[in-house]
Amino acid sequence: MLKDNLKKIEKNINNSCKILNRKREEITLVAVSKTKSAEKIQELYNLGIKNFGENKVQELKQKYLELPKDIRWHMIGHLQTNKVKEIIDKVYLIHSVDSIHLAEVIEKESLKKNIIVNILLEVNVSGEESKFGLSIDEVIHAVEVISKFSHIRIKGLMTIAPYTENPEENREFFYKLRELSIEIKNKNIYNVSMNILSMGMTNDYRVAIEEGATMIRVGTGIFGERIYK
Ligand SMILES: *Cc1c(COP(=O)(O)O)cnc(C)c1O
Repeated sequence: MLKDNLKKIEKNINNSCKILNRKREEITLVAVSKTKSAEKIQELYNLGIKNFGENKVQELKQKYLELPKDIRWHMIGHLQTNKVKEIIDKVYLIHSVDSIHLAEVIEKESLKKNIIVNILLEVNVSGEESKFGLSIDEVIHAVEVISKFSHIRIKGLMTIAPYTENPEENREFFYKLRELSIEIKNKNIYNVSMNILSMGMTNDYRVAIEEGATMIRVGTGIFGERIYK
């Protein structure tokens, strides 16, 4: 089943790339494995997937211990400051930096461990109240402040679009995130790159790719429905 699901998604990504004249290598598929077992992750890993996304620190730590060391773990969920030190040396990329304060804590803890941590800033483009993330107006200031932290590298932006049956409704949010990333890129801020645009999930990744996503986060489409205990 995993194999067929993956095939289908790869096919969709490839088709979109062809139509858009984009290269397949420009887009990283992050398999969102939250709530899924280590066995399932291993199965997907054996099919060639190396990027996995988790949204809970405890779960990420446990899976990090159990699974191959060359997996790239992506922290995609809200990160509490008191948990930062538990994962900064285990993750490839933190997608969910949603405040300057969180970045300060990441800086402090990565200094102690003498490591550099790659992050994305999470932007609440849709303005939904239930969502974490900086508002569009706050992002440039946050980038300017965080760019001065010597143990953090800003690699781009991330957004979580609203859940919708009709992915076209999210196009404007993806478009806005891309516009914002271009605006930041054009400022040429030292230590800041805008190469990563993490946007698009199972229901809307094709629209996200059309609007310039370089990283898509797909859970259900690969692993099937999640069961929360
Ligand atoms: C769960 C989750 C996803 C994956 O959602 P699906 O609809 O299952 O593809 C992507 N991004 C974030 C931040 C998530 O929490």
